[in-house]
Amino acid sequence: MNAIATNSSTSTYDVIVIGSGIGGLVTATQLAAKGAKVLVLERYLIPGGSGGYFEREGYRFDVGASMIFGFGDKGTTNLLTRALDAVDMKIETFADPVQIHYHLPDDLELKVHRNYEEFLQELIAIFPHEEQGIRKFYGTCWEVFNYLNSMELLSLEEPRYLMRVFFQKPLSCLGLAKYLPLNAGDIARKHIKDPKLLQFIDMECYLWSVVPADKTPMINAGMVFSDRHYGGINYPKGGVGQIAAKLAEGLIQAGGEIKYKSRVKEIILKQGKAIGVKLADNTEYYAKRVVSNATRWDTFGKLLPPEHTPKKEQKWQQRYQKSPSFLSLHLGVDSHLLPTGTDCHHILLENWDKMEANEGTIFVSIPTLLDPSLAPPDKHIIHTFTPSWIDDWQGLSPQEYQEKKEEAAANLIKRLEAIFPGIADALDYQEVGTPRTHRRFLGREDGTYGPVPSRKLAGLLGMPFNRTSIPGLYCVGDSTFPGQGLNAVAFSGMSCGHRVAVDLGL
Ligand SMILES: Cc1cc2nc3c(=O)[nH]c(=O)nc-3n(C[C@H](O)[C@H](O)[C@H](O)COP(=O)(O)OP(=O)(O)OC[C@H]3O[C@@H](n4cnc5c(N)ncnc54)[C@H](O)[C@@H]3O)c2cc1C
Repeated sequence: MNAIATNSSTSTYDVIVIGSGIGGLVTATQLAAKGAKVLVLERYLIPGGSGGYFEREGYRFDVGASMIFGFGDKGTTNLLTRALDAVDMKIETFADPVQIHYHLPDDLELKVHRNYEEFLQELIAIFPHEEQGIRKFYGTCWEVFNYLNSMELLSLEEPRYLMRVFFQKPLSCLGLAKYLPLNAGDIARKHIKDPKLLQFIDMECYLWSVVPADKTPMINAGMVFSDRHYGGINYPKGGVGQIAAKLAEGLIQAGGEIKYKSRVKEIILKQGKAIGVKLADNTEYYAKRVVSNATRWDTFGKLLPPEHTPKKEQKWQQRYQKSPSFLSLHLGVDSHLLPTGTDCHHILLENWDKMEANEGTIFVSIPTLLDPSLAPPDKHIIHTFTPSWIDDWQGLSPQEYQEKKEEAAANLIKRLEAIFPGIADALDYQEVGTPRTHRRFLGREDGTYGPVPSRKLAGLLGMPFNRTSIPGLYCVGDSTFPGQGLNAVAFSGMSCGHRVAVDLGL
């Protein structure tokens, strides 16, 4: 095992991971499973970050994520299944028959069925003149997905792995290299001409990338638009928080440690190398390698003083900007509100010009349709959220903040009447989260959902991998390749664990 000469005498751990989001936990479990001595430090009370949960009055609410990719049982892109399996953990899941039910302007109503052909038929029925374009666009997504799904997904920063996959799957590697610098919009516009259909493709991207197709990397689009029909969308029994809980359990069983209420305030450097961390209570821990699961904005500039921000990071911050946060409403409702056949996930937009606007697109999840145990009898959870910028929530007195929250919640509920008539009268419980809530509880600067390109970029080429310019320091999670989403950060965690293990000689 390689040791850093400057700190080998003080290193208690092989690896310290700052944060127990899914990215951090996958890194930690991958390394612990390989025999590394791992410590995870989490500022909050439970693991999971944006994939966590909270309980109120008999309801168990997901903090954020609830449309879960990566839980399939075949191929190589089912990274959540694989990450759990690495530490002998498994989660029972409920298959979601419909990924999303769209309620879009101009009465554009359709469902993305788990069955691919059923989805295509529904879309082609609305845009019959574009049948060929539709098949070509989504067919190209399958091409990308099939390349990805044919190979083991590990660190692209590891030359021996790259050589190995190249010799095993040369066509897949060349195919992926072709699509790496492209965006979904490039492919959509090549095959599709109808502006309304292109708007729909924009929304298909926006709902998970929070940018339109022109700024959404084709590799990610290939993954999302195909895996929903391949491995499918599957909801974990007991709620999304189970994923982190099981990973944390597996970590401990594999010999790792996790400490909660442990906020890292500083990454300790010695002669320019990361050698440990200092907590808010001034406790120090040392390790041969440090991995940050905090966002890049929190890692460079907060955990490390601004003067240590490498040039590469400064350039990255020019290419990528923080996406908005969310205004979230966690609702408990009487079950009679939802007629039989209601779908779990919905998107509501009344005006195309507002798709990217503050409080424009509304996202809805009703996880109790799949797992009724998350709510009291005869009740359902409706988690609804819409993009919101922190600037709108700053500088308010406590009373003004409360009033603004109530006003924003009432406005969202009023808009939701369009798809759930009678919702206002069916409310049993309501809790409002703002960008300030996301910032406070998730420790994410401005409560951001993650990085988005500040201009049109060459696909995924600009997204950084796990190594940083600071020796000994790695980043993992949604501000690393390939971006936001639980399965994406699991990919980042697998890659990070792989790269660190190789660096440690494991
Ligand atoms: C409202 C919402 C809805 C979403 N919906 C979906 C969805 O349906 N499907 C999907 O796949 N994805 C969804 N996402 C995105 C997904 O949840 C995230 O991309 C993913 O969970 C990010 O994981 P991460 O590991 O990068 O970071 P995080 O989840 O942010 O975890 C980072 C962890 O590090 C801890 N931490 C930070 N700083 C410190 C510090 N200094 N010291 C100690 N600990 C620290 C935090 O407390 C946190 O636990 C959603 C996100 C939100 C907010």
